[in-house]
Amino acid sequence: MVSPMDTEQRESRLEALVQACVDLIEWRFQGEVDRGAAAMLLADGTIITGTSPTALNAAVEVCHEIEPFCAAYRLDLAVVASVCLHRDPAGRFLVLSPCGVCRERLAVHGPEVLAAVPDSGDLTKVAWVSLGDLLPHYWLAAFPQELASMSGWKTVPATPPLVAPNAAEARLTGGSSA
Ligand SMILES: [Zn+2]
Repeated sequence: MVSPMDTEQRESRLEALVQACVDLIEWRFQGEVDRGAAAMLLADGTIITGTSPTALNAAVEVCHEIEPFCAAYRLDLAVVASVCLHRDPAGRFLVLSPCGVCRERLAVHGPEVLAAVPDSGDLTKVAWVSLGDLLPHYWLAAFPQELASMSGWKTVPATPPLVAPNAAEARLTGGSSA
């Protein structure tokens, strides 16, 4: 059983996580721009980094997160936090929030997983957001029984639609309910 990190340990590991991602880009892509990498913090404090290989057909390339995501599974450890950075032509390390597919991959680790997103005022500064906040209407919420067996996801209260169903239907069918 892995003992959970305390808040102070976690803060320092999150800083190390971002630095590990920067370090990988600097080491692997010396002098290159438009290159990126990802790093994940695992439940025992381990940091795993990864970067996506280029392919002749860009359609078969994968997200930078794949390597650390698979490593977490191989090591049988939960993912605590994930960061993805991209070095732009100006040499800045832009924070990329996880794409939709990676959010889905991270979801198996529960809504408390932290994802790095760009700070609203500075695209190079990391702000940590929980996956639950990134996925407020997660599809699995429609299956309360399955959720009960998942780590941490809860059913969300139904949100009233912006357009009443009857009005939307009337518009789609071209009819009028008036
Ligand atoms: Zn992705």
